[in-house]
Amino acid sequence: MIREKLVVVGNGMAGCRAVEEILAREPSKFHIVIFGAEPRVNYNRIMLSPLLAGEKSFEDIVINGHDWYADNGIDLIVGDPVVSIDRVAKTITARSGRVEAYDKLLLATGSDPFIIPVPGKDLPGVVTFRDMDDVGAMLEAANRGGDAVVIGGGLLGLEAAHGLTRRGMKVTVLHIMPTLMERQLDESAGWLLKQALEARGQSILTQADTAEIYGDGRVQGVRLKDGREIPASLVVMAVGIRPNTALARAADLAVGRGVHVDDHMVTSDADILAVGECVEHAGLCYGLVAPLWEMCRALADGLVASPSGYQGSVTSTKLKVSGIDVFSAGDFSGGEGRRISFCATPPAESTSA
Ligand SMILES: Cc1cc2nc3c(=O)[nH]c(=O)nc-3n(C[C@H](O)[C@H](O)[C@H](O)COP(=O)(O)OP(=O)(O)OC[C@H]3O[C@@H](n4cnc5c(N)ncnc54)[C@H](O)[C@@H]3O)c2cc1C
Repeated sequence: MIREKLVVVGNGMAGCRAVEEILAREPSKFHIVIFGAEPRVNYNRIMLSPLLAGEKSFEDIVINGHDWYADNGIDLIVGDPVVSIDRVAKTITARSGRVEAYDKLLLATGSDPFIIPVPGKDLPGVVTFRDMDDVGAMLEAANRGGDAVVIGGGLLGLEAAHGLTRRGMKVTVLHIMPTLMERQLDESAGWLLKQALEARGQSILTQADTAEIYGDGRVQGVRLKDGREIPASLVVMAVGIRPNTALARAADLAVGRGVHVDDHMVTSDADILAVGECVEHAGLCYGLVAPLWEMCRALADGLVASPSGYQGSVTSTKLKVSGIDVFSAGDFSGGEGRRISFCATPPAESTSA
């Protein structure tokens, strides 16, 4: 039997989950080739927080090791990002110059961290929190000790602050809004969360608007618009994410905030699909995994089975923010202006970090 070739761009959570869903339905339909920009196998990005905090090792957070790729006949090309798509020839080209033909192409390129455009944003010592390399840079800084500033009091920023505190750094969180995690938490819950985090040794400055990151050849601190200066040898920017749409845009696919897809994750080109945080479905982009798993199911159904498509996702969940349980019910899309009712419950036991 001649198998079709499926090329996957992105060896992250959604790309590999989509492949798992396809294999579960029809293991021999495609010869699968996966390109990953990161130089490693597929791991659980959510677990970067416990890894930073010293609670897990990289081996603990691997989802699919080399055996999985080998056992399923998948060619894995790591550390070689795809740089262009030729939709007429139906090929992709990677940074190394490698060209791969496809019958179906799956874009699963995730998101890029947003960098606030302030002076000093490119200084050594300014990092984001997205992948293993970012965690490596934070751990190196933590080994040297000293002060860290985390810009952003959302889920990611608070996780980074927790991990760095656990690693012995003195951490200040800067958040531009009056209360923490305001997209998910109501004001009282945000205030309770702030109290709980401060009790664990973090400094939290709300309504703190960054003017500049200063330093002579390397980060030395952050200056706020009101003139306050917070010294730091490490600055973590965790102010949001943007769907990574560069490849799709360059290939002239329909793109809004994310790559436009239908209910089976098919883009404006019938032979190109997209899944995960890079996607925009019915006007919404997503930044948590629950809706992405639904997308992966809908994609596999569309490719190798038939039935229902993706209809968007309204779910309830329980998150852990810096070791504190946050219960929620609502819509987890990254859409603008969505207000969800939450409550934060600090654990009854010890509050030491
Ligand atoms: C620290 C942290 C904590 C999180 N905690 C939670 C949580 O508690 N709950 C939750 O639901 N979600 C959480 N998330 C979000 C969750 O991890 C993401 O929603 C999920 O990883 C998105 O999957 P994805 O496959 O779309 O993107 P990713 O997992 O980011 O995968 C995209 C991959 O594509 C690669 N890539 C990009 N461009 C190219 C290219 N041109 N060629 C080849 N490869 C490319 C990237 O390097 C990356 O490896 C967290 C995220 C982080 C960073």
